[in-house]
Amino acid sequence: MTGSYYTYSQKLMGTTVSLQLYVENPAAVTAVFNTIEALEARLTVNRDHSEVMSINHAAGKHPVTVSKLVFDLIQQAKAASLLPYSRFNLAIGPIVKLWKIGFNGQSIPPADEITHRLSLTSPHLIELDQTNHSVYLAKAGMEIDLGAIAKGYIADITKLVLAQYNIHQAIINCGGNVLTIGSSPLTSSQEWHIGLKRPFAAANSLLGILHVQNKSVVTSGIYERYFIFNEQLYHHIIDPFTGYPLDNELQSVTIISDNSLTGDIYSTILFGFGVRHGLNELEKHKNMGAIFVTKDQKIFIKSNQHFQFELLADDYELCQSLIPA
Ligand code: AMP
Ligand code: MG
Repeated sequence: MTGSYYTYSQKLMGTTVSLQLYVENPAAVTAVFNTIEALEARLTVNRDHSEVMSINHAAGKHPVTVSKLVFDLIQQAKAASLLPYSRFNLAIGPIVKLWKIGFNGQSIPPADEITHRLSLTSPHLIELDQTNHSVYLAKAGMEIDLGAIAKGYIADITKLVLAQYNIHQAIINCGGNVLTIGSSPLTSSQEWHIGLKRPFAAANSLLGILHVQNKSVVTSGIYERYFIFNEQLYHHIIDPFTGYPLDNELQSVTIISDNSLTGDIYSTILFGFGVRHGLNELEKHKNMGAIFVTKDQKIFIKSNQHFQFELLADDYELCQSLIPA
């Protein structure tokens, strides 16, 4: 191990964001956190006002012109929602707001209310006008929710901010979305060591360690936000076909990719696909690797040469990919 490091944390985006640098640069640190704060203020749906909320407030009434940044992100989220078999759905807002999972008032909603709100979640009803960057939600009550991609997008921007300060080695951790920048000054292999959390355990309890360089590591998991009622677990990733938390064999999916927006989109998409379909899909995306963790304590790895995984938990079984690499 060589070198010393400087860690900075702030509560932002409903989580603790931490930044690790290997040089002291207070101006860069301020710029990173100010940028995150400003982007959150534009993208959030957990406050009354933001650019995204201005679209939601005008649902069924009129299109709203937004910044190019917000428009582009919505366009990417819509494309992800329209992929074949995708359970990613940027129009899931009315159902997320109904369950309130991870927020005050979380509870199991009446079935008829879920059915009603499902009629407000078709991504086809989100009309995008490329010429003036306007977004129109065609039915009153519709709501865009960018919760599944905003952190990834914001992490990528922080990399650009740091580059402006000539910083090319850093880690930014947005509560489960980790972006490693450059190579690590702390290990002889120059690889970063990123912990994969043990589901439902303390934050420092790990299933294993990923070794990566210049990669994003993003996890979607049922243990991130949930509540338990009558011994049944209700978590925050909603199946847009049923309106209930997505129920399959998975506890989590971790995506290892070059940029964090892609990782955030695909962690949610592949979580919805499940292990077999997810591993198959990765055959088409050689620029990504993934780790699937199942409820019956199996770990499936598709590395595509982007990372190595060191298993620490002896009660989990490491299974080679169902498909030859
Ligand atoms: P992630 O942890 O990146 O998988 O994103 C989960 C967050 O995305 C949730 O907290 C919701 O805000 C939102 N969300 C929930 N279900 C979906 C879904 N099916 N498609 C897109 N976003 C969703
Ligand atoms: Mg995601």
